[in-house]
Amino acid sequence: MYDDNNVFAKILRGEIPCKKIYEDDYALAFYDINPKAPIHALVITKGKYTCYTDFTGKASSEEINGYNKAILKTVEQLGLSEDNGFRLIFNNGKASGQEVPHLHAHILGGKVMPF
Ligand code: 5GP
Repeated sequence: MYDDNNVFAKILRGEIPCKKIYEDDYALAFYDINPKAPIHALVITKGKYTCYTDFTGKASSEEINGYNKAILKTVEQLGLSEDNGFRLIFNNGKASGQEVPHLHAHILGGKVMPF
């Protein structure tokens, strides 16, 4: 069940500010407030999905494609690529460490990542 009061829903409604990186019809990307790497961005869906499995199970092909393209645009805007490398993480559900129940991808980069 999607919670309209989660912090990313508030960011989407403009009730909480964010440092925006990229936005289109499908996604909004902004910097994480508590970065775990020199570059740490979050890409959230415009649609109300709780997590990755909820999104991929319910969203239309257009939304899924649009969201993935938005992640790519964000990565490019951040100057990240296959060459300098980045990590893409989806925490899925509380047991995985997901704190905010609105689908988001973490993009982590700007340093060599330990395995
Ligand atoms: P999760 O643990 O749910 O996968 O990740 C949630 C992320 O959201 C965390 O890395 C946390 O630092 C970030 N976060 C939580 N609240 C805010 C906020 O109000 N603004 C921004 N920009 N990031 C937030």
